[in-house]
Amino acid sequence: MYNAKAYAAASATSPLASSTIPRRDPTEHDVQIQILFCGICHSDLHTVRNEWASFSPTVYPCTPGHEIVGRVTRVGSAVTKYKAGDLVAVGCMVDSDGTCAECKAGLEQFCPNLTLTYNAPDKHTGRVTYGGYSDSIVVNEHFVLRVPTNLDLAGTAPLLCAGITTYSPLHRWKVTKGQKVGVVGLGGLGHMGVKFAHALGAHVVVFTTSPSKTEDALRLCANEVVVSKNANEMQKHEGSFDFILDTVSANHDINAYLKLLRRDGNLTLVGAPEKPLAVDAFSLLLGRRSLSGSPIGGIPETQEMLDFCAINNITADVEVIPIQKVNEAYERLLKSDVKYRFSIDMASLT
Ligand code: NAP
Ligand code: ZN
Repeated sequence: MYNAKAYAAASATSPLASSTIPRRDPTEHDVQIQILFCGICHSDLHTVRNEWASFSPTVYPCTPGHEIVGRVTRVGSAVTKYKAGDLVAVGCMVDSDGTCAECKAGLEQFCPNLTLTYNAPDKHTGRVTYGGYSDSIVVNEHFVLRVPTNLDLAGTAPLLCAGITTYSPLHRWKVTKGQKVGVVGLGGLGHMGVKFAHALGAHVVVFTTSPSKTEDALRLCANEVVVSKNANEMQKHEGSFDFILDTVSANHDINAYLKLLRRDGNLTLVGAPEKPLAVDAFSLLLGRRSLSGSPIGGIPETQEMLDFCAINNITADVEVIPIQKVNEAYERLLKSDVKYRFSIDMASLT
């Protein structure tokens, strides 16, 4: 074991502060990574403040971060995919059983023995896992992704969660050219959803509560922008969408969006608000519409997404910050004031 530099929260009401965390020395299948950038996902904030207590209570101290890009510093004796110096990435998962049907299908996110990158029981240490707000991490090579060399590293980090979480449902629901696709919420996930839906050839409509984001949404290649507080504007789109991706992090009225789906249309929730959302049965049954959810994506699909980004020149729009500004960044996330992902430059962690 060794001590890594990190930022950690001591309780649900404490700010993140400089600390150290224990990491294991790489075992034979492990890759040790010097972390260069780590994106700030709203899930980090939900976890640090114990907002998901009913799903997964937070164990303190908590070091979040699951949008990790870095350079390999050391590999275990049995590692075949990576060598020191390689540019690599780690997302929301660091381990799984590797033997169940889900793992065999490359859908590790559904493995019953999945280990998440932070706040999950750590088989190696007997404690919890600690995420990417740190100078290094040690991960089984199966959960390490290859970073295409043409991508900007600060903007690549968010692809590991915001990217795959929006890419995966767009493919699962077979979004293609000419379809009408809605993206609700223009934050970290939402802005990636717009980029991917546009790249797939869809007609993209952004729903936002922030009128000031209209210009940015159009720059990100949305075809239309609807300020969701405007009931008239919303009504114009009733019954017209093939697919809607809901990325909202807080309580909101999803019936207002279900009604916008055409017959057999689907709304997929990727946002994970603290409290349950109320669903009006009529919003679903009148158009035989469906409501579903989607968690991140499997390892093969995550690599596919990174390669898709390399070909289509897609990265997240980031505001690079030093780690000392992380608490300020959290407050801005809560005010929907992020353009459109914070990416922590880990060189600031000294
Ligand atoms: P984010 O950057 O904070 O974006 C969320 C956006 O939601 C905001 O920018 C805002 O967009 C909108 N919003 C916020 N509060 C709202 C409210 N009260 N009513 C309506 N709209 C509101 O967050 P993120 O990192 O993209 O994450 C979004 C959610 O997805 C979080 O709950 C996160 O935990 C979850 N998540 C899920 C997965 C998964 O696997 N399914 C993965 C990662 C994250 P506008 O200003 O445009 O309205
Ligand atoms: Zn995330």
